[in-house]
Amino acid sequence: MMHDGVRVPPERTRAAQEIAAALGPGRRVALTTHVNADGDGVGSEVALWHLLTARRVPAAIANPTAIPERFAFLVPSGADRSDRAAKEIEAADVILVVDISDLSRLGDLAHAVRKTRVPTACIDHHVSPGSLPAGPRLVAPEASATAELVFDLATALDWPLTAAAARALYVGILTDTGAFRFANTTPRVLRVASALLDCGVDPESIYESVYASAPEGRIRLTAEVLGTLIVEPDVGLAWVTVPPDALDRHGATADDLDGIVEFPRSIAGVRLALLFRQLANGRIKVSFRSLGNVDAAELAHEFAGGGHRKAAGASVSGSLAEVQTRVLDAARRYLRPRPAG
Ligand code: AMP
Ligand code: MN
Ligand code: MN
Repeated sequence: MMHDGVRVPPERTRAAQEIAAALGPGRRVALTTHVNADGDGVGSEVALWHLLTARRVPAAIANPTAIPERFAFLVPSGADRSDRAAKEIEAADVILVVDISDLSRLGDLAHAVRKTRVPTACIDHHVSPGSLPAGPRLVAPEASATAELVFDLATALDWPLTAAAARALYVGILTDTGAFRFANTTPRVLRVASALLDCGVDPESIYESVYASAPEGRIRLTAEVLGTLIVEPDVGLAWVTVPPDALDRHGATADDLDGIVEFPRSIAGVRLALLFRQLANGRIKVSFRSLGNVDAAELAHEFAGGGHRKAAGASVSGSLAEVQTRVLDAARRYLRPRPAG
């Protein structure tokens, strides 16, 4: 199966057909993604909403946390029912989880999803054991973004992509590849992006919506967080810390922190960058970003987190100071060359 020169591997075609079979006509679909949805989660859900709506399959987005303002421009009116997410999950005939394969990152919705008796389909690119209830899976850790897999699903099923659906997928790919800069910027995903432009995507207007429409508070928050920077050049480690009341003071949300960890990572000689912040539930969220052969996911696993080689995260219990000490010790141990012999 080809779409503008992008071939869909047979196992993805088979997985797409299994998912399509579960999304039969008239069956109500609840689309959901991980807490603090990012561009890939929202973009994938919105594109699926368009694809399903065009096929008269009733669909609603039901996320554990509100869609960040930054991505609101993508969401068609009436598509997002996250304010009654648990009810949407309970009323659904099929649940379609995107950009995560684990129950643990579905926040308050984990309970509703766990007790469901309907198929739980999943489209995802994380390396994960996968703890969702049974259902068809289109999971490929080698994919750059979940949006790339949603593109494959549409291609494999011959479901046409409207400009609106293509735009949502483009946002998913753009944000998960760090605007085509990270190691997951593959030749294939660039071909997918090219096919999306052919469907009518306007890259400049998307750039403006995603990266150049910041509220003033986001920039002031960035300045304050960067003020906490500590660098250990001999180990190749750098980290920043979000002061516990900073989000409130700047009228900001967690989404406004997205990308800040790229600044410590961008320092010459730094191989691992960390961002620490306190979550509303009191736990400490650690973002890990690495360069070269440093495996951020391996380190995040030590703290029951996960993710990808170059970008991982964990939510750790303890005070900010305790968690910082433990994670920094582990990071120094990881980065120091193992003694010879
Ligand atoms: P973040 O630092 O929140 O941007 O997350 C980077 C990546 O790490 C995400 O794409 C997820 O794959 C993963 N991740 C973040 N938080 C967690 C967590 N608490 N548990 C497992 N994986 C996580
Ligand atoms: Mn994500
Ligand atoms: Mn993703």
